[in-house]
Amino acid sequence: MARFLIDGELVESLSGESYEIRNPANTDEVVDVVPKGSREDVKLAIDSAEKGFEKWSSLSAHERASALLKIAEIIEKNRDELAVLLTREHGKTIRESRREIERAAYRMRYYAGLASQISGRFQCLEAKLNKYFITVKEPFGITAGILPWNVPVTKFTAYVAPALAAGNVAIVKPSSTAPLAVLKICELIQESKTLPEGVLNAVVGPGSSVGDELVKHKKIEKIVLTGSTDTGIGVLKAAANSLKHVTLELGGSDPMIVFEDADLNEAVKAAIYGRFRMTGQVCMAVKRLFIHEKIYEKFKNGLLEGVMKIRVGNGLKMETDMGPLHTFEQLLEVKSQVEETIKDGGRIIYGGKTPEGKEYEKGYFYLPTLIEDPPIDSKAMCEETFGPILPLVKFSSIEEAIDMANSSIYGLTGSVWTRDINKANRVASELEVGTVWINNHHESIPEVPFGGFKLSGIGKEFGIEGIEEFLKTKAIVFKAR
Ligand code: NAD
Repeated sequence: MARFLIDGELVESLSGESYEIRNPANTDEVVDVVPKGSREDVKLAIDSAEKGFEKWSSLSAHERASALLKIAEIIEKNRDELAVLLTREHGKTIRESRREIERAAYRMRYYAGLASQISGRFQCLEAKLNKYFITVKEPFGITAGILPWNVPVTKFTAYVAPALAAGNVAIVKPSSTAPLAVLKICELIQESKTLPEGVLNAVVGPGSSVGDELVKHKKIEKIVLTGSTDTGIGVLKAAANSLKHVTLELGGSDPMIVFEDADLNEAVKAAIYGRFRMTGQVCMAVKRLFIHEKIYEKFKNGLLEGVMKIRVGNGLKMETDMGPLHTFEQLLEVKSQVEETIKDGGRIIYGGKTPEGKEYEKGYFYLPTLIEDPPIDSKAMCEETFGPILPLVKFSSIEEAIDMANSSIYGLTGSVWTRDINKANRVASELEVGTVWINNHHESIPEVPFGGFKLSGIGKEFGIEGIEEFLKTKAIVFKAR
């Protein structure tokens, strides 16, 4: 049975309640049993974190960095075991899980390097140092990270690494449906005694109780949430009463715009990887594809050829390219978005159903799906599609492409494909998104700040900006007597 991490101990929930996690590729397979937490477990985690902060805040940046480097080693050393667990609880392929874990270790190292770079400003206000000010960067203290199910290990390290590097302590709440790999990492960290007790805590439970307690508790000053936009808005409102600092990494409906002068082979490959990786369950996936009318047919045929080769199956098999959807609810949602888009006039050119065969009977599988001519106000174009659905839209001018791309309520990322630097530059400057890729799409790079505009979020993670989110600025003004 998996366990929480509170006060340096691996524990069950206070209520003794637990539930099973089943493999989405084969729901007969119980992967593990997880304790079901409540508000009372969160209160214990907060008491633990309070004690942890006393110890952690007395360490130097060098000591904090050393601990993060050791955690990176632990993650890397256990890559294979963690990857299998992640695939079994989530459904993503083993290659995707390994990559997620490798990147997580790198993220730990990256923020270990930034721990000693935290610094403030100095400015002289009068001659001869008679009056000056400095700014000091201070950690918040107790912080909480509420994670989604789609990239649990990525989001665990995207939260924990900068939070700890900046001198905060952490309480992590993994999603209820994919908590196992994260709890296993916490267990490995605990067993290695890398962190003082209470510096890292983990509790799993419903968002409405465990998540809500974290968001409302007065001793927590900083919340990081990755999740859907609806959850983000609710969390922002709930956090307002105690004026918490909040970072929100939310949904997206990211456009990819391909011009007639693009490298079509590269663009086709990127569209397939960018949409169907992790069965389309990625915030920054290519969710709307805009193709210039002059190359539309050629591009569509290239896509079709590539998509037909995607092997759907159990993620544990090395030959699988695309696993199942993560939950039954997710499968129903994707089916309904496709059906509604077709009703509104879109045409399926590939997929649009669950695959047939014995190996698919016990899992939440769905074929990679291409939809042509979806109306601009159809579900596949307006909602976030968190599954393997790719709508294809023709455009004839740069203005039309930019207008359609910006018509979304979301503004997470977007990409432009062209060999013309002026065209690329114009699209990059006019897209209303937090990240623009030129001739690439869909990369999570620890050095590059990431975070959406519009209803895709508030604040940034990754990069130097990612550590700034965990620091508050104090100004100290000196005046000579
Ligand atoms: P979700 O909103 O259902 O849940 C996210 C987390 O919030 C879970 O841990 C959940 O238990 C918790 N939660 C739910 N209600 C809460 C409440 N009232 N108070 C506190 N916590 C609460 O999202 P999900 O289905 O787990 O994840 C998929 C979503 O996450 C998609 O919309 C995706 O685009 C988004 N996402 C965004 C990014 C990004 O970086 N922008 C990255 C990954 C996923």
